[in-house]
Amino acid sequence: MTDETNYNATVVGKILLTPDLMILRVRTDEPRNEFKAGQYTSIGLLGKEPRSPNSSVPLKQVDDDLLIKRPYSIASANNDVHDFEFYISQVKSGQLTPRLFNLSLGSRMWVSNKIIGVFALHDTPPDANIVMVATGTGLAPYISFLRSHVADHQNIKMAILHGAAYQWDLGYYSELTFIQNVFKNFYYFPTLLKADNTWTGLRGYIEEHLLGGLLEKEAGIEIDPNKTQFFLCGNPNMVSTISNILYEKNYQLHKSNEPGSLHIEKW
Ligand SMILES: Cc1cc2nc3c(=O)[nH]c(=O)nc-3n(C[C@H](O)[C@H](O)[C@H](O)COP(=O)(O)OP(=O)(O)OC[C@H]3O[C@@H](n4cnc5c(N)ncnc54)[C@H](O)[C@@H]3O)c2cc1C
Repeated sequence: MTDETNYNATVVGKILLTPDLMILRVRTDEPRNEFKAGQYTSIGLLGKEPRSPNSSVPLKQVDDDLLIKRPYSIASANNDVHDFEFYISQVKSGQLTPRLFNLSLGSRMWVSNKIIGVFALHDTPPDANIVMVATGTGLAPYISFLRSHVADHQNIKMAILHGAAYQWDLGYYSELTFIQNVFKNFYYFPTLLKADNTWTGLRGYIEEHLLGGLLEKEAGIEIDPNKTQFFLCGNPNMVSTISNILYEKNYQLHKSNEPGSLHIEKW
């Protein structure tokens, strides 16, 4: 049985980028242990919390006193163990996200004490380039990577390929453009599927750009497992298509007991 006394954190920021995409900032009552950029934690709300007005009817009802918990990648830098940022998309028929989208500043919620995951930069070879590929909110762990480590990785090249539908789905666009302007070794490649005529950037699927030589031509980054580490996070179709392209180029999946140059976070 759970009640509000299990809530251990307060919402301190909520930015709705679209009605179904938000940046949520949460302050935990007690600091968490040190963590590595790219890791995730679980957050939760009770079943009795109201759902957002634009959500749909869930497939099943949950008990009022059930704590609904789901894992989310931390987008904030790893030097802050009190305030955590999450980049969340609303699954309209889901259980937790419609309740998260209904939160406001000062709302109470639950955040796990544990921060876990092996999707992290810390054990990549120090001289390897880093390519981070994401669709949608799969960008979250890379924001933590960059906020935590971009300044210590100026000897290598780093790139983000971010796929989305419309311009307004590109969360963190300004921050990533700013980092690209400040750090000459960082390249930001957003690519859109449904952009209108005001968009002058890349269009189409990430895999088309990879196969078309974008990284080599625009950033001088070779797709070679001895030179470049790849991180993939987001839509399962994107992860599967791009990992197949990389396996063809002799990439091997990174495991905790067996280092490889391909790192995957599956949602
Ligand atoms: C390591 C990790 C990190 C993650 N990080 C992020 C992140 O940074 N940002 C982010 O937005 N998400 C992230 N996720 C996904 C997140 O954990 C949730 O899965 C997501 O937010 C949906 O939660 P929900 O409770 O709203 O939906 P759920 O209730 O879990 O529903 C998910 C889907 O299942 C369907 N469904 C629900 N119940 C049923 C049923 N009975 N029968 C059939 N279908 C059903 C729903 O329609 C929906 O499509 C991460 C996941 C993992 C594993």
